[in-house]
Amino acid sequence: MTSDARRIADWLSESRQAVAFTGAGISTESGIPDFRSPGGIWSRVQPVLFDDFMRSADARLDYWRQKVASHDDFADAQPNAGHLTLAHWESAGWLRGVITQNIDGLHQLAGSRRVLELHGTARRASCLDCGASYDADALVKQFRQTETVPECRSCSDGRVKHATISFGQPLPVDVLEESSRWCEEADLMLVCGSSLVVHPAAGLPQAAKLNGAKLIIINREPTPLDGIADLVIHDGIGQTLTAVAELLPAADGS
Ligand code: NAD
Ligand code: ZN
Repeated sequence: MTSDARRIADWLSESRQAVAFTGAGISTESGIPDFRSPGGIWSRVQPVLFDDFMRSADARLDYWRQKVASHDDFADAQPNAGHLTLAHWESAGWLRGVITQNIDGLHQLAGSRRVLELHGTARRASCLDCGASYDADALVKQFRQTETVPECRSCSDGRVKHATISFGQPLPVDVLEESSRWCEEADLMLVCGSSLVVHPAAGLPQAAKLNGAKLIIINREPTPLDGIADLVIHDGIGQTLTAVAELLPAADGS
């Protein structure tokens, strides 16, 4: 572990455009279940597909029931050592920013400023018909009281959904383009806590590697990109990033 941490610290200090790519695994240490570990979210519920949400009122009710049930998974969660270390590295100039598949907003809560949210955010909800945006907490509370799918207050009967990307829904083009640009320009790509099986997001670290970046993967379980990575660590993210941080010079130069 120490020699792996030393290699990451050396590569980070040599890099000019290091980028982190995170998935649900970085938030399990904050108590938020991931999708694919045993006991993860998909072993409990069947997701509502985007097309079904759009055309069926029953599917929208199912969707809101699921979202309200999983809302508590992250509503009170706090950033952990992994989020805090990445935020610190950004402010210290070691890291350009974070591309994340997560929807929990914990990178921002930790202090990261440059965060590209590929799958949107569960902190907001929006109307798919007129684009009006709402605080998700308030709508979840409303649903709990009424058991009625929230309707858009701006266009009256618009379909309101969390500002997250559902299965079958396209990713936001602007975020995907900016992420691709970061991956083209990256000289170091640090993957933390992603099974790297959800596309197109999982193609980004691969693109960075093909564009010449060093690829580091920190993930408890093997991923499809382990074979092309420069360093793979099958261990916890918090302890690994903390060990690396201890080897980097402090931001104040001490
Ligand atoms: P995933 O569940 O497919 O994979 C998570 C990976 O993280 C697993 O391979 C697991 O071994 C690893 N892992 C879990 N805890 C770890 C830890 N402490 N240290 C090191 N590794 C750890 O997640 P994914 O690749 O992000 O893709 C799934 C989708 O999950 C994304 O679309 C994302 O939007 C969504 N999701 C997000 C959240 C969240 O926002 N916190 C939670 C669940 C799912
Ligand atoms: Zn609307």
